[in-house]
Amino acid sequence: MAGQIAYIALGGNLGQRNRTLAEAIAMLNDRPGVSVLRVSKMIETKPVGGPSGQGDYLNGAAEIQTSLSPEELLEVLQDIERKLGRDRESEERWGERTCDLDILLMDDVVMDTPNLTIPHLRMHDREFVLVPLNELAGQVMHPILNKTIATLLSDLKKRSSP
Ligand code: ATP
Ligand code: CA
Ligand code: CA
Repeated sequence: MAGQIAYIALGGNLGQRNRTLAEAIAMLNDRPGVSVLRVSKMIETKPVGGPSGQGDYLNGAAEIQTSLSPEELLEVLQDIERKLGRDRESEERWGERTCDLDILLMDDVVMDTPNLTIPHLRMHDREFVLVPLNELAGQVMHPILNKTIATLLSDLKKRSSP
């Protein structure tokens, strides 16, 4: 399949987390125009932001090849979230959810529309995103910050440890 390489962040803290994220990856790979190439280990992380009292998350990343446009890919991700039981109507910002799928990077695409910002606006500030992504794409450049994922992760660790 021709197309772009993209990196997707996966996360969830409700239900059978491992099973839900594995299902999300399988559903993504089944979509026309999407092939999942590699998947990171899933790591357990503490909730960041959002209401207190939420359970821990499982987070991971996937490398895909896709012929879809960024907007089409976002629609596919949101459809999978819905099928896995995510209910946006009843959730708080950064609150608990079964499945959150974000587009982190898509080749060298840089875009900022009301519905979609690529690279993901907050990825470089989040260890739970950069650790799994680094496993797959340590040498990939962030097209705005012009640093590799490995460098962004080590910068973040320096910032967050006194
Ligand atoms: P965060 O964006 O801080 O990770 P979140 O994932 O909890 O928060 P959601 O409620 O899942 O936020 O999504 C809010 C909106 O973000 C979506 O409706 C979507 O239009 C928009 N969005 C913008 N850029 C992206 C992106 N790169 N990937 C996924 N969604 C995005
Ligand atoms: Ca998110
Ligand atoms: Ca999201």
